[in-house]
Amino acid sequence: MKTITTTEITNEVKRLCIEAANIIEDDVLNEIRKASKNECGLAKSILEQIIENDELAKNENIPLCQDTGITVVFVELGNKVFIDGDINEAINEGVRLGYTEGYLRKSVVKSPINRINTKDNTPAIIHVKLVVGDNLKITVCPKGAGSENMSKVKMLLPAEGIKGIEDFVVNTIKEAGGRACPPLIVGVGIGGDLEKCALLAKEALLRDINDSSNDEDAKILEDDLLNKINSTNIGPMGLGGNITAFKVNVNLYPCHIASLPVAVNIQCHASRHKVVVL
Ligand code: SF4
Repeated sequence: MKTITTTEITNEVKRLCIEAANIIEDDVLNEIRKASKNECGLAKSILEQIIENDELAKNENIPLCQDTGITVVFVELGNKVFIDGDINEAINEGVRLGYTEGYLRKSVVKSPINRINTKDNTPAIIHVKLVVGDNLKITVCPKGAGSENMSKVKMLLPAEGIKGIEDFVVNTIKEAGGRACPPLIVGVGIGGDLEKCALLAKEALLRDINDSSNDEDAKILEDDLLNKINSTNIGPMGLGGNITAFKVNVNLYPCHIASLPVAVNIQCHASRHKVVVL
């Protein structure tokens, strides 16, 4: 049995919150650089400004976007790990310290009705998965509201098939237009039930931009959807261009014979997540 202290968890979450807010992922930045070479005019200039912004944020250790998000935390907890206290409280304390000491914008309200700011960005949204092994993996993923607000879930009928899925995904992106701050990474969850497909879509955003699905059907869908989304010419920040999305990631899961749940979770160009394995 491996013992991991709540203090270790808090310190790591605090570090990950600050790093995620300030340092863009290498795979995303490379993709923005590649895209800037394939655009011209205004689209090219926007991408060059995003690159400059991301480099400046990293070098100056300041947030790459003013919206430092609600903090989504994915935990994989091994069955041979013992934690000496409350993991949820340890994670929230890490978020509290990260957002206050890192001078990150606090964007969480206590209740969706009273809208009073909690002033420390807690509580985080925490997803814990039990796995086999002696590791604790923590992924911190700040999620801005601009792209999250344009995300959708729909319960399709099985007869609507691939066409129904593709129409729903592409229409969701068209409706989002510039409001989701493209170029995007698009997470698509298909199957499960209402909440499972939404979670599949969010998990799809964590994948390295260079990786595709191992499932042949999902991979074909990822390529088709990317072509269709980039044919919309929404372009960088919605002002026209060839690159509306860098990547579409599809996750599949078994579902009821009478259901076809589909979720689209949109991630803007400020795609942020940091991982630690303890
Ligand atoms: S959608 Fe993304 S880039 Fe746009 S304001 Fe929100 S976090 Fe920032």
